[in-house]
Amino acid sequence: MSKMSLDRILQSQGFGTRKWCRELIADGEVAVGGEVITDYRAGFETAGLSFTIFDETWDYREHVYIALNKPANFECSRKPSHHPGVLTLLPEQFTWRDVQPVGRLDHDTTGLLLMSDDGAFIHAQSSPRRHVPKLYTATTHAPVTDALVQQLLGGVQLHDEPAPLAAVSCKKLDEHRIEIVLEQGKYHQVKRMLAAAGNHCEALQRTMIGRLSLDGLGLEEGEWTFLEADQLALLV
Ligand code: URA
Repeated sequence: MSKMSLDRILQSQGFGTRKWCRELIADGEVAVGGEVITDYRAGFETAGLSFTIFDETWDYREHVYIALNKPANFECSRKPSHHPGVLTLLPEQFTWRDVQPVGRLDHDTTGLLLMSDDGAFIHAQSSPRRHVPKLYTATTHAPVTDALVQQLLGGVQLHDEPAPLAAVSCKKLDEHRIEIVLEQGKYHQVKRMLAAAGNHCEALQRTMIGRLSLDGLGLEEGEWTFLEADQLALLV
């Protein structure tokens, strides 16, 4: 296995330009294995490497896979216009790494959002051919009725869709809350399906993607975590 110089390692992990990383190293801000390294040319195997920078320890990661419990009033868009972007909830190096949301949640939708800098992963996860179930809890304006549940299960027609869209499953949780599982990811899909069924979505939370659940991750709103291979395997 080949070694990589410390300045390249830090740059690849999003800690800034090569010049900036060299300065951090020369200033004694970076340690590997508890030893401060001041020579940027020092080479390290990247597999299994941990380094400390500004007193925080990070593992080297070729790509990052992140789960965020998105709060309301953050936009998933790359160029947010009315609210801060979700990237502002993550450490700055992830912006440098070009981490992006995998698909989108509306600015007022909360809950499980995946983010990554792995283009192939983002592409595969966002493919319309991929039928990964996504679980949402919607708070409704009008009471949840059996008829509403049946309509969502039977399919509702949205004006720009060629065929009715149906929920994979649907369950009344209480008077004003309904759990809906969808396999597609159409624009405003839950809200538009509820509207087409004669109700109105007042609040929306995504609680699960595949078998990866927000509860299982134990994230408070605004918190994030890295996803490891066993958790990524749940995204089917
Ligand atoms: N459906 C919606 O209407 N909004 C979301 O953010 C996600 C699914």
